[in-house]
Amino acid sequence: STAYKVAVLGAAGGIGQPLSLLMKLNHKVTDLALYDIRLAPGVAADVSHIPTNSTVTGYTPEDNGLEKTLTGADLVIIPAGVPRKPGMTRDDLFNTNASIVRDLAKAVGDYSPSAAVAIISNPVNSTVPIVAEVLKSKGVYNPKKLFGVTTLDVLRASRFLSQVQGTNPASEPVTVVGGHSGVTIVPLLSQSKHKDLPKDTYDALVHRIQFGGDEVVKAKDGAGSATLSMAQAGARFASSVLNGLAGENDVVEPSFVDSPLFKDEGIEFFSSKVTLGPEGVKTIHGLGELSAAEEEMITTAKETLAKNIAKGQEFVKQNP
Ligand code: ADP
Repeated sequence: STAYKVAVLGAAGGIGQPLSLLMKLNHKVTDLALYDIRLAPGVAADVSHIPTNSTVTGYTPEDNGLEKTLTGADLVIIPAGVPRKPGMTRDDLFNTNASIVRDLAKAVGDYSPSAAVAIISNPVNSTVPIVAEVLKSKGVYNPKKLFGVTTLDVLRASRFLSQVQGTNPASEPVTVVGGHSGVTIVPLLSQSKHKDLPKDTYDALVHRIQFGGDEVVKAKDGAGSATLSMAQAGARFASSVLNGLAGENDVVEPSFVDSPLFKDEGIEFFSSKVTLGPEGVKTIHGLGELSAAEEEMITTAKETLAKNIAKGQEFVKQNP
């Protein structure tokens, strides 16, 4: 079918509002359900006046709002949480966001166990394993339907590379793999159109892609982190998930998923190119040919990722 219910959890936030707007503009969406602990009915009323075909509803925790939001959802997008303040890393968000995401995952397990779930709440390297553990404990975990959204790293890589080269970002695709914070973000520039950048340019570009979020946190000066670019990234990823569910061909997005790539090294989740299909993940692609610098970055990324993943899993064990 091409009728899809999409739920946004945390829809009244800095990311949630523009993300809800962008999902309202997606013609595959027929039912858009917005949930937040505050203001979601207001955001829903506002967005609902935009003349596309979807019905928009907004819920708070009152009157079983979360159950109503999730029931029948094909795709659940989760940006709920607290944003980064200057000087905070994504990992500093862990304690608050871990509990929020755990509780929302429980509701997904209860009310929309077969939905695709796209996690935006940071730190994604840990929140995705948290959702997996919660869904496992409810016996409804489907690794093909759980995604950490890393698309903002892909958008930044493409934009920053195009700025350095003076080209159109639309024709500068860059694959970004690994995870979604700092050194776990590994742009594969050797696979772009510019494999021979001067070392200074290359190093600065990699650093900007890995720490681009800090530019926004600093510029917003206490008022939050990337919201508008993150909403665009989330909407693009969500659109690809829906295109996959609809059976379109060659829908490929990098995403942080339950991955076989480095499982033998104890790393259960990894981001690489994923072909999306009617069941969610269709194919998880390997990394392809890497430069020596990229090999080294992958090694570094894996060390941090292993810890981030374990931290999420441990949180659910200690705080079920
Ligand atoms: P960001 O910039 O990451 O979007 P915000 O603080 O602006 O950060 O937005 C996060 C949103 O998540 C807020 O609107 C907040 O009310 C919401 N939120 C927090 N906890 C929950 C929860 N348990 N369920 C749903 N939404 C939540």
